[in-house]
This record gives sequence, structure tokens and C-alpha cells, in this order.
Amino acid sequence: MSTFKDLGLNEDLLTAIDDLGFETPSDVQAKAIPILLNDDSDLVALAQTGTGKTAAFGFPMLQKIDVNSRTTQGLILSPTRELCLQITNELKLYGKYCKGLNVTAIYGGASITEQARQVKRGTQIVVATPGRMKDMINRNMVDISKIEYAVLDEADEMLNMGFYEDITDILSHTPKDKSTWLFSATMPNEVAKIAKDFMHAPIEITVGNKNESTNQVSHEYYLVNARDRYQALKRLADANPDIFSVIFCRTKRDTQKVAENLIEDGYSAGALHGDLSQNQRDLVMKSFRNKQIQMLVATDVAARGIDVDDITHVINYQLPDEIETYTHRSGRTGRAGKTGVSMVIVSKSEVRKIKQIERIIKKEFEKKDIPNGMEICEVQLMSLANKVHNTKVNHEIDKYLESINELFEDTDKDELIKKFFSVEFTRFFNYYQKAQDLNVSDSKGSDRQVSADETRYFINVGRKDGYDWMSLKDFLKAVLELGRDDVFKVDVKDSFSFFNTDKSIQEKVLTFFTDFKHNGRFVNVEVSDDKGGGRNRGGRSGKKRRGDRRSSRRSDRSSSGGFAGSGNRKDRRSSKKSKSVSDRPRRSRRRK
Ligand code: ADP
Ligand code: MG
Repeated sequence: MSTFKDLGLNEDLLTAIDDLGFETPSDVQAKAIPILLNDDSDLVALAQTGTGKTAAFGFPMLQKIDVNSRTTQGLILSPTRELCLQITNELKLYGKYCKGLNVTAIYGGASITEQARQVKRGTQIVVATPGRMKDMINRNMVDISKIEYAVLDEADEMLNMGFYEDITDILSHTPKDKSTWLFSATMPNEVAKIAKDFMHAPIEITVGNKNESTNQVSHEYYLVNARDRYQALKRLADANPDIFSVIFCRTKRDTQKVAENLIEDGYSAGALHGDLSQNQRDLVMKSFRNKQIQMLVATDVAARGIDVDDITHVINYQLPDEIETYTHRSGRTGRAGKTGVSMVIVSKSEVRKIKQIERIIKKEFEKKDIPNGMEICEVQLMSLANKVHNTKVNHEIDKYLESINELFEDTDKDELIKKFFSVEFTRFFNYYQKAQDLNVSDSKGSDRQVSADETRYFINVGRKDGYDWMSLKDFLKAVLELGRDDVFKVDVKDSFSFFNTDKSIQEKVLTFFTDFKHNGRFVNVEVSDDKGGGRNRGGRSGKKRRGDRRSSRRSDRSSSGGFAGSGNRKDRRSSKKSKSVSDRPRRSRRRK
């Protein structure tokens, strides 16, 4: 494995790298840095977010520019103001021992004269968003006619955001014989076209698979009456307790309204749209990034700046006017190698648009049902159980243990657990027990009606185990040796999932999974009380037996490490979350 020194970086940079604590170059750095240092050729580098692309172009650029000259020699274009600031700060850190170095950030929403003043002072590197850059070129506030290096960072995002013309315009003010370095997570046709039109025989390097990120998103749609849109949104949120999402609305007004309603109903939500001041938008984004906001309601325009990696769901509260915009929306999730879900809430009159979108994204949607009340209760209960199971004991409690124990002297373990969970569960149950079915069947009748011939199951594997609905379906079909459509309504949650089969094979499924181990842990399947979209609540008989089985397996499961991946993020959020969970059903009931 190479070191930064092996790559050919100079002492000033190596000292800064030491200070930063970078030990070894990342893949994209190891590949790009030697090329950029030694060749004058153009470069196309494809690598996922978070792989260290800034340093991959930043180190060579810092080493190659002449800090004794005040001429602008390097230009870096990036899609958003935030990325622009981020890159500028990183470059300043990398170049802190390069005496005389000036790096200037140029972006909208801040004083243009102040930025022009900084440029005039003599800046070797300009980091800019395309819009403001063009503006400053037109006003003769910046001179890029002598640059030697141009970087197009996050090229796919810039093109997604419609910056193609701005970019060509800006590049037309640069010398022909400069080197152009393009960095991108994916290689859609538009990026290939930029490479073809503006670069000379670029060397191409790829880290990981090309276009990997676009395959990480699954697409779902939910058919409801237009008047039930908001209720449907709440159910989708409640059925995904660890949701971290962007919700898209068509207008600023709707955006504001949906966010306000969610906040009033006890969700951690925020609005992002153009009628807010820059300051307000910064605050919302900060809370979102810190995960204090779980549901960010946004317009398409405002959401352009969002560069948050671990968004679990994109919810299309309304479809965009321009169908093409859907791609940009769904691209907010499934980033940095993670999986994501893009959900669309549609009314009957819009359902044909789904087909049009399928043609554009070249992927199929799965039609899914808005979860019913019992399913949500079950999800919430199991999510709480997992949270409790993963909670680190706070030993401050120890000194109160004696008095607490005294109080529960006559309560056995089962009873205690039931009481404990009822604290949270009863609120959800009360709210949802009379909840309506929100699903509308489409005219073709192609959606499955809930029938007595189906069985819905609970299975103790989920997203954390690397499954999405497609891979879980494939897994079930494979191990149970079933046909194409025998497993349906597969609904994958964080640490568990649901699926349906015909009742006729229920025995087979349950028998198979009585003693089945996968990757060293027991895979447990049980009949779920929920029927997956219907209101048939089924018999509760046999619940106890199943409950016992489930809890006895739980210890096997945790020791297998299957739940280890929950990480800080959840822990950080859980305190906040439990508050909103307990508030939510009460408040929303009041609103009804
Ligand atoms: P990308 O542009 O590919 O999304 P960044 O350049 O923003 O990624 O880098 C992501 C993070 O990784 C940054 O916090 C950066 O400081 C850090 N980083 C970059 N290179 C290294 C390295 N070789 N070792 C450790 N951390 C690194
Ligand atoms: Mg980057």
C-alpha cells in the first residue's frame, strides 16, 4: 500500500496531512494524485461521495500552482454553496504550510463586492458555484483567462441541477491548453458529453462500480384519495420509525403547510423553500444535518443544496410538474453506497405518470399499500423493543434500583415487560385502532385485495442485514423454493420485515423457518397479526407461543452481531425520537 509520500507530494503538504491525521491515501487519491502530479493530461474520476475526492484534486493542485504569483491559476466549480465552502475550507487546511496561498470562495447569497475584493487581493485558487461565477465574469470581477487547472467537482450533480450552460459559458473564458479534471459519483450521459466536448483524451479512473449509486434506490408508489395525502404521509412516517427523509412538495405554500402540520402533530420536521431567508434556510439545514429534523419538507429548487448522505427515504408528497425532476428528487437518497427508498403518493388521476417515470428511470415501481393501523403498531412496538435491547445501561440508575425493585416485587418478568412497553404502545394503539384503510384500488384491479387466503408474516431480518424488498423476496423464494409471484407485499424495515404468501403454503413456510440459520443466526418467521393493507385484524390466538419463541431467539440474534450496525446516529436521535413518538398520536388525534 502506498503512502502520501510515495505518491510524490511535497513536504508542506505532507506536514499538513500529518496534522489532519490522514494515514493512508484513499483509493481515488492513490489513483489520481500521481497522474495529476506527473501528467498534464485531463482526468475523469468516478468515485462515490465520501471517498476523499477533494484531496484527490486538491493536493496536486496545491503542489502545482505558484504561490508566489498572484494570478488565478486554479478554478474549481462545485454545485452548491455548501460544497463550495466545504472545499474552500479543506483546501485551506491542506495548504496551511503553503506560504502565500490564497483560496477564495465565490457563491450566491453573500456579498458579491466582498468576494470581488478577496479576488482582487490576489487569489491563486477560486472555488465557485456556476451561477455566481458567471455573474462575476460578466461583471469583470474575476479573471480566469490564465488558469491552468479547472476542476468540475460533483459533475453529475451540477448537470442534474441544470448548470450545463453556465459551465460551458464559464469554460469559454478559460485558456484552451489548461488541464481539466472532472470528478463525479456517477457517469450519466450528460457527464460523458461534457467529457467528450470539453476534455482532451482524458485518462479515466473508477473507484467501485460505475453508476453504482443509481442502483441503490428502490421506487414505490401508494395510491390514495387526494384528500388523504397528508394522512398517508403520516402513516408512511410512522411505519418507518428511523426515517430520515426529504419530502417534496410542488409549491412553497404546500411545503410550508405540510411542514407546519407535521410539527403540530409532533414530528420533528422543518420546511425549506425560497420564501425563507438565507439565514432561516441555513438553520433548517443545520438541524437536518444534525438529525434534529427527521423530515425535511422542501421544494425542488430549495432542495438543490442538499448534500446529506444518509437520507433513508425520499417522499414525493406530490409529483413534480416536470417528470424529469423525479430523477433529481430520488437521487437525494441511496448515496454513498447506501440503499434508499423513493416513495410516491399518488391519486388516481396521476397514476399514469408512474409509467412515464418508469420509462425515464428505466426501473419499475412497486405498488404498495399504505400500512394499516395494526401494522404500524407492530412496527413501532418492535422498533421500541430493539431500541431497548440496544440501549447502553446508565449506571446512575443503580442507586435507585432497590426502591424500584421493591415497587415491582410481585411483578414477574413477562408482566413487567408488558407494562413497560404499554407505556408507549398504548398511545399508538389508541390512535390507530380505529384508523381507516387509506388505499384506493386502481381500476384495473391489479393490486391485491387482502383476502382470507393470504398469510402475512413477520421476519427478523431487515435493512440492517443488507436487504431491500427485492433481495429479501429473492432470498425467500430461493430458500423456500417458491415461484415468481409466490412471495408478495414484501416490506423491509430497519431490523425486521413483513411478507405475504398464499395461506396454502403457510405451514411450509413456518416449518421451514423453525430451525433455520443464515449467516450464523436464527432467522425467525412468524405469522403477523397484520394483514398488510387490510383491516382484518385476525385472531390473536397463538400469540403467546410466538412471543416466547421470538424473545428466546433474541439473545442469539444480538450475539451474532446482526444489530451492531445501529451506530451513533440512532442513539443520538433516540432520545428526541421517543419524545415525539409519545406526543404524536395524542396530538394528531386532537387535530382530527
Ligand atoms: P468526497 O468529495 O469524495 O465526497 P471528501 O473529499 O469530502 O469526499 O472527503 C470526505 C472526508 O474524508 C473528509 O472529511 C476528508 O477530510 C476525509 N478524508 C479525505 N481523505 C482522507 C484520507 N486519506 N484519510 C482519512 N480521511 C480522509
Ligand atoms: Mg466532494
